Amino acid sequence: MIKTRFAPSPTGQLHIGSARTALFAFLFAKHNEGEFALRIEDTDQGRSTKEFEKNILEGLDWLGINHDGEILYQSSRLEIYKSAVEKLVQNGFAVEKDGAIVLQAKEALEKLGIPLEPIKTFVGWRGEKTRENGVAYFLKNIGDDLIHGKISGAISDTVLLRSDGTPTFHLAVVIDDEEMGITHVVRGDDHLSNTPLHIILQKLFNYNIPKYAHIPMILGTDRSKLSKRHAATAVSDYKKMGYLPEALVNFMALLGWNPKDDREIFSLDDLIREFKLENVNKSGAIFDIEKLNWMNGGYIQVESPKAKVESLKDFGVDELSVGESELISRGGFKTLQEAADYITQLRKTPEYDSSLLIFKKSDKEKTNIGLKTTSEKLSNADWSEELLQKALESVVSEKNLTNGDVFWPVRVALSGAEKSPSPVELLLALGKDESIKRITKAINGLENQN
Ligand code: GLU
Repeated sequence: MIKTRFAPSPTGQLHIGSARTALFAFLFAKHNEGEFALRIEDTDQGRSTKEFEKNILEGLDWLGINHDGEILYQSSRLEIYKSAVEKLVQNGFAVEKDGAIVLQAKEALEKLGIPLEPIKTFVGWRGEKTRENGVAYFLKNIGDDLIHGKISGAISDTVLLRSDGTPTFHLAVVIDDEEMGITHVVRGDDHLSNTPLHIILQKLFNYNIPKYAHIPMILGTDRSKLSKRHAATAVSDYKKMGYLPEALVNFMALLGWNPKDDREIFSLDDLIREFKLENVNKSGAIFDIEKLNWMNGGYIQVESPKAKVESLKDFGVDELSVGESELISRGGFKTLQEAADYITQLRKTPEYDSSLLIFKKSDKEKTNIGLKTTSEKLSNADWSEELLQKALESVVSEKNLTNGDVFWPVRVALSGAEKSPSPVELLLALGKDESIKRITKAINGLENQN
């Protein structure tokens, strides 16, 4: 059975890039009817906090990226790492130096029968020149990556256990992946340069070597790694700003994965059905907030009325009338915050200058007739889109007026704004009593205007 894992360090909030890595690891496992495990890499006691851990767990839960089984905490496994590394010391592949346990690269490679190719400086995956302390050994094609192909890189003497008894990331990852039965390591490609070392450790411990899939980074528009300079990076910030988890999941999936046709809208279930690692790009994916906004707007539009009520609760709107819900379904709101602000504003009695009621090609008298007749018709009207539209049109025809004489002032009377949804949409959102109240107020305002 396929088993993947997500292994965040709780040293910061759940970053959108990590969440995307988690999503891919989850999708790959679920597509193959496998398991997706969660491991908290909290051995750095100085920087790990429970608060960050909570932020990460809540973020995953909100996105619907659910893990299987118990969460594994590295901090509870210190004894396991210690005794494992002891074996390497006994076999002469690691030695104690100043209280720390250090891998002996040369001895390790010799034991594994890997020819030594010493280098002093080597070029990392991103072209950076890395200078290690002492000699490094180049490993050509030491492993395979499902996305990048052959893995090459270098290893050198490396601390495995610090003098305070905590394992370094490399040691803990390798031991845990083995003990958890991880078959596929799906992680960010910032870890590609660590993988040769991990494979050597796996060989020394006689572990299974998992398959690797390194996912490309998410980049800002300037092609540097996505950071706060480009956009909000924490998943929890997107929740606060009024993005729907369905929209964020859909958007993140398309950052690097490609369905090989022009479809763009995918639910989590669709993604599970369709996701293949072969269709993940090698190169970085650019974060485009406009696309996320467009997607989010679409997901807000199609939410069921009940779901709309639930989603708007966190943004200060408690209940929604059918008309208000329909107004949101007509679209135009990028975030839940925008939709909620609009509804909150709509519910307030509008304040405006009465002169705004008069359309530029109309006059006070025609406006007055338009509003009064509308008010009369509305008191007897059935509150449906079709009948309300007919009622307004009949005011125009019966009184020999233009659309501007009628639709414009009704819209202003209802919204107080120059730009707003159509009068019928507003009537439906506000309901009969409130609509007539606002139109009456407009008529009085117009009469008192000098
Ligand atoms: N704790 C590591 C990180 O957050 C996980 C690396 C891995 O998945 O192996 O980058």
